[in-house]
Amino acid sequence: MTFVIPPASATTIPVAGGGEFPVRRIYCVGRNYAAHVREMGMDPSREAPFFFCKPTDAIVVAPIGGGARIAYPPGTEQFHFEIELVAAIGMGGRNIPIERANAHILGYAVGIDMTRRDLQISARDRGRPWELGKSFDQSAPVSLLHPANDVGHPTDGEIWLQVNGEDRQRSDLDKLIWSVPEIIANLSTYFELQPGDLVFTGTPEGVGPVRSGELMRGGVAGLTEIEVRVA
Ligand code: MN
Repeated sequence: MTFVIPPASATTIPVAGGGEFPVRRIYCVGRNYAAHVREMGMDPSREAPFFFCKPTDAIVVAPIGGGARIAYPPGTEQFHFEIELVAAIGMGGRNIPIERANAHILGYAVGIDMTRRDLQISARDRGRPWELGKSFDQSAPVSLLHPANDVGHPTDGEIWLQVNGEDRQRSDLDKLIWSVPEIIANLSTYFELQPGDLVFTGTPEGVGPVRSGELMRGGVAGLTEIEVRVA
């Protein structure tokens, strides 16, 4: 095959224990911890989950100690972090039953759903799409992927984020409004999931801004921590 321009390189995430996970799509769940829903000025009653996407090449591999950096993005004065558990799909499917969803998950990583909050809120309040607020370059840093064979399928455990060593977010996976299997089941009624898809499962309360030079560090119990500096 002759490409008329150079093809984009594959986006991959290193797997703890060896190998690389090739990323196909990035799905993200909105408003999935009640205290975060309230801090965003919304009602945390258990409405159906909703989704948005980030482009695949928004991934930045950022395990602790790796020295990863992301640029402060243009067009915002509110560059916000959202620490999240990320599920990686290893086996595709559609209309996946809740009780079989875990079998479709290859493993888990820690991710940060970086958000241009001012643009997201403006879009939300005007009924416009969220891409400018959510789907920009380097908006999806992630740590190493851990196979479920090693770490199981976490349903509880601490999830936290610090900026320059100070706590900003600290909660527990048991506060997810929609569990990971429920998310997978619902998402798979709208999209045929494929190996390589990632699902960001939502963030707890405490989201806030970072500025150039600040260091974010975060974790989910049992997984490699994430660490990334804003350039
Ligand atoms: Mn999020």
